[in-house]
Amino acid sequence: MEFISIPIDKQKRIALVAHDNRKEILIEWAKKNKKTLIKHKLYATGTTGKLIQDTLGLKITRFNSGLLGGDQQIGAKISEGKLDILIFFWDPLSPLPHDPDIKALLRIAVLWNIPMACNRATADFMMSSNLINTKYDRIVIDYKKYKQRFKNESID
Ligand code: PGA
Repeated sequence: MEFISIPIDKQKRIALVAHDNRKEILIEWAKKNKKTLIKHKLYATGTTGKLIQDTLGLKITRFNSGLLGGDQQIGAKISEGKLDILIFFWDPLSPLPHDPDIKALLRIAVLWNIPMACNRATADFMMSSNLINTKYDRIVIDYKKYKQRFKNESID
């Protein structure tokens, strides 16, 4: 198996998503980590982003609400190499109409070896790591062979 290294800058592009039953926890967590978060570029699904903006006053790029494709937009940005970190507080207790989108986002984040926190403890460990303020080389499987296989269908 071959690998490539994708550099993550000191200033990270962080995507934040929380399902309705996890929004309170995310806001609480974001308040505690505001000093760190403010140093990075923030992105979020619609409602999560609005909440963060309104309660913390942080500048944030918002995608659609999750129900309207926001998770898919974040997944697409990950595939394009335009996001570095995913904080995704999904709800393990309620089935949601966009379950397929959620599963797709989890898959894409793992595929591209994106640091992903799905609960508060992991997000705490992530924010307290030295790597949050330094450059990092993300090691990803080299998918060149897949790309060659589908070359004629690819848009890049
Ligand atoms: P929201 O979307 O931030 O618009 O609530 C999150 C989600 O449901 O995935």
